[in-house]
Amino acid sequence: MTTIALIAHDVKKPLLAAWAKRNAAALARCDLVATGTTGGVIMQECPGLKIACVKSGPLGGDQQIGAMIAEGRIDALIFFPDPLTPMPHDVDVKALLRLTLVYDIPCAFNLRTADLLVAAGALDQK
Ligand code: PGA
Repeated sequence: MTTIALIAHDVKKPLLAAWAKRNAAALARCDLVATGTTGGVIMQECPGLKIACVKSGPLGGDQQIGAMIAEGRIDALIFFPDPLTPMPHDVDVKALLRLTLVYDIPCAFNLRTADLLVAAGALDQK
């Protein structure tokens, strides 16, 4: 099963939830994991999606997803960060991004790239 990680900072959560709704059919065929608040917002918007939620980002959720990447358990990351607000967990975000590079994980950091990843088959089954 293809496993997709989903994370969005607060101002971007509605955007990611709308993207998930638009791609709900394909996402429903994937294993989904999200940081706590992001997962809750997406499941509210898309009640049909089952998402395994780790801790909230500032409480270690980004690091949990980073660990899953290091363990080879994540196939792609859709992460919409807020580029205009300093975060208390900036270092966690940086560590997560470093692991996506170390393990060559397909990543989308904005809507248009997320759409390109879908078009490239990132949500297709392995
Ligand atoms: P959240 O975490 O989904 O729990 O808000 C995301 C983040 O801030 O990295």
